[in-house]
Amino acid sequence: GLCQKAQFLISAAKVEQCPPDEGLEVAFVGRSNSGKSSAINTLTRASLARTSKTPGRTQLLNFFSLDEQRRLVDLPGYGYAKVPIPLKQHWQKHLEAYLSRRDCLTGVVLMMDIRHPFSPFDRMMLDWAKGAGMPVHVLLTKCDKLTPGAGRSALQKTRKQLQDEWGDIAGIQLFSATKRIGTDEAYDQLAAWLQL
Ligand code: GDP
Repeated sequence: GLCQKAQFLISAAKVEQCPPDEGLEVAFVGRSNSGKSSAINTLTRASLARTSKTPGRTQLLNFFSLDEQRRLVDLPGYGYAKVPIPLKQHWQKHLEAYLSRRDCLTGVVLMMDIRHPFSPFDRMMLDWAKGAGMPVHVLLTKCDKLTPGAGRSALQKTRKQLQDEWGDIAGIQLFSATKRIGTDEAYDQLAAWLQL
């Protein structure tokens, strides 16, 4: 797939530094340590988003190009990392600006650790997506940490809660970067949003 051609494009500290708002873009969001960098690396089969062991290290919007018209964006899990308040406010301002203004954004992939779903960050993203009518695809990450049976029941339970509180805006699946579980399903969603 085209994701294999993914290349780092630009880090933007502000919305004004984003690439031109054209073509199609899918954003990856998740609180620190949710497994976002690992998911991006697995889906693109490259070490694009350097896996960081330090929570909250990603301070910018990182753009990766798949081709001239398609991009992935790694958004920091702002607001809940251990960083000074002025930096949080800076992130929040620019991320909100990005999310609300970006016409080429066709979908948001939300990473939630299967053992800790619906953090305040996750709820805020889901609320925003519902209000904006933005489709969301939830990856329940690190599912290899549970037995297959426990993973399936966590999926059912989380899907029901998602449906009850946010309706039909979001799809959800199991995912493990380590064991490569759910990579085809996640890739299919990216391909649909990016018209691949
Ligand atoms: P980020 O902060 O959301 O970008 O998260 P990372 O991708 O850096 O992962 C955070 C931690 O979780 C790291 O220690 C990873 O090795 C670990 N991790 C990420 N994905 C998986 C997974 O699928 N399975 C397991 N067991 N650990 C994972």
